[in-house]
Amino acid sequence: MDGKEKLEVCVTGGTGFIASHLIRALLHKGYHVRTTARNPEDVSKTGFLWKMLNAKEQLRIVQADLMEEGSFDAAVSGVSCVFHTASPVVINPDMNPEVTFVRTHVQGNINVLTACTKSPSIKRIILTSSCSAIRYDYNHTIEDPPLDESIWSNIEYCKEYKMWYAMAKTLVEREAHAFAKERGLDLVVINPSFVIGPMLTPTPTSTIAMVLHFITTGAGEYPNMRIGWVHIDDVVTAHLLAFEVPSANGRYICSGEVAHFGDVLQMLYNKYPKLKTSERSCSKEKGNNIFHTLDTSKIQSLGLHGFKSLEQMIDDTIQSFHQYGLLENLL
Ligand code: NAP
Repeated sequence: MDGKEKLEVCVTGGTGFIASHLIRALLHKGYHVRTTARNPEDVSKTGFLWKMLNAKEQLRIVQADLMEEGSFDAAVSGVSCVFHTASPVVINPDMNPEVTFVRTHVQGNINVLTACTKSPSIKRIILTSSCSAIRYDYNHTIEDPPLDESIWSNIEYCKEYKMWYAMAKTLVEREAHAFAKERGLDLVVINPSFVIGPMLTPTPTSTIAMVLHFITTGAGEYPNMRIGWVHIDDVVTAHLLAFEVPSANGRYICSGEVAHFGDVLQMLYNKYPKLKTSERSCSKEKGNNIFHTLDTSKIQSLGLHGFKSLEQMIDDTIQSFHQYGLLENLL
């Protein structure tokens, strides 16, 4: 076990879709895990973590809020690696997204990175960024070569098309690289595309909640969005490789297949005809339908050998919804 049983790592935002899978994998591998939650005492959100294998011996949940300066100091103090996944993903319709949503991301990220500078034990920080920090620009065409890690989303494009999430992820990641360089931190970044697969959290969050919404609520529109899709298992593997392979560096695109949201809903409907996907039409929104493919050779050369197929992602997601009783009479 290479002394792993003595190593403690921190995963921010343990109540999240990606973080919960990562925590489970780390505990399983023998690591001690300190995770954060805004309210650790809220068992309706954190209770499921205690049921994970090895959790009783190897897990700690500490309170931290991205919006409170210094809040992560205790959470990261003394650990050897920080996986920073916590961030708001869904935009609350009441907020001014350009100001509130983007500022929460940027300020929260700086709070976590600043906490890391105070703990000399930390050997590496792994930030969960996104392909949204890569794929938005005016110039991409179907003839372009696959987008790789050298490419960044254009902030003006994000503003013009109101892509606030992409704008936030781009600003956060840019700032994280600059901060790490200036302060001598070893930062590795994973850029997943749209993550789906089975959930561990008590209720669906983030992208999983979005998929559930579109397959259970009948008529309306679906996003005019062409996007990479990736299985949660591959995202977890990418994070573990970023941590365990000493030579890991810079950004890593982590994505299976690129497909239009409508094509994925059609696949779902073909396979599960009772799902309410066929009654929807494509929205007229612009700016989120960019033709692109993604170059995943960098993460593959780090050790991720082949991504799960879209079909597998869909099947595992539907199976999970079914097990949670979320698809009554729809299968
Ligand atoms: P998620 O399920 O919504 O989890 C987000 C986590 O962040 C939750 O634990 C949430 O805690 C926490 N959080 C939100 N605001 C917070 C605050 N002010 N202070 C402390 N914690 C806060 O999202 P996810 O899909 O796992 O995403 C995790 C990370 O991966 C995010 O950085 C996201 O941008 C990135 N990512 C996700 C995808 C995807 O397709 N899902 C793709 C690419 C990148 P609460 O439970 O208290 O709200």
